[in-house]
Amino acid sequence: MLKVNNLTKVFSLEKNNLSKGQNSFKAVNDVCLNIKEGEIFSIVGESGSGKSTLGKMIVGLLKPDSGEILYEGKNIGHISRKEVKKIRESVQIVFQDPYASLNPKMTIEKILMEPLTVHKRGDKTYCRKKAEEIIQTVGLTKEDLKRYPHEFSGGQRQRICIARAIILEPKLVVCDEAVSALDVLVQTQIINLLKELQEKYHMAYMFISHDLAVVRYISDRIGVMYAGELVEYGEKQQIFENPRHPYTKLLISSIPSTNPEEKKEVEDGNANKISNDSKCDCPFAPRCEKFSECCMEYQHRYIEVEPNHFVMCCNKHL
Ligand code: SF4
Repeated sequence: MLKVNNLTKVFSLEKNNLSKGQNSFKAVNDVCLNIKEGEIFSIVGESGSGKSTLGKMIVGLLKPDSGEILYEGKNIGHISRKEVKKIRESVQIVFQDPYASLNPKMTIEKILMEPLTVHKRGDKTYCRKKAEEIIQTVGLTKEDLKRYPHEFSGGQRQRICIARAIILEPKLVVCDEAVSALDVLVQTQIINLLKELQEKYHMAYMFISHDLAVVRYISDRIGVMYAGELVEYGEKQQIFENPRHPYTKLLISSIPSTNPEEKKEVEDGNANKISNDSKCDCPFAPRCEKFSECCMEYQHRYIEVEPNHFVMCCNKHL
């Protein structure tokens, strides 16, 4: 359904960073991935790894510097505005902060009716009926439509944001750290709601998160990002049970064990075998315990280590 080829986004740096000899950095570097209909594809990685930038390019909030985004075979960069608008209806986003995402001056009814009006989905009666229907689908009531965002808790606001995202019946929803700002109990409720909605409407999610426990619960497939690169991707079981990239191994080993007897070998980097200034192009090299001479020949190329499981690392002995 969605295919991303060699997507790159470069940001200019502030003047005070120029002294480090850099005037720009690649937030997303040559990323390729595909998302299938009805699947949950999660993107994990630490803060600053480029996950959100990637998500924003996919929904059209940021323009890529190079690469292409194909939606149902159509290159979004090479179609008419009308067609882009149509695609935008099918690809929606839910942000991390439900407080900043809702206009405080609008009632929930207006917030939910707005996308329907903008995309000319029907008259006022239709839009109102649809708003009544969707607010109940996300676990709130018809009466809540007359209230304002400040009258709701964080979890309820995120339900409203989800309702707004799905009211146009999109095929893909990018959930950008959508549960990170919520407490654990509310997180669970929202994740269960997202799962229920996905089954009901057969949507796909691109689920961006730094929380591996959440990702393990919700995903079908997982991609791991590090320093703007998608360093590994595969089925959920492959990533959790057979991680191959040194960074993915580090991430998985950092999950606290439920068994206090079990001691995990944490291959944390800070290996210092190689300096940041080295000519090695692998972004993980300065932290990598597995660094060896072959890494100096690193190329931006995936190795299929088992069916449907890809790793961007030149060390064949992983
Ligand atoms: S290419 Fe080398 S440095 Fe980079 S992750 Fe693989 S083993 Fe580590």
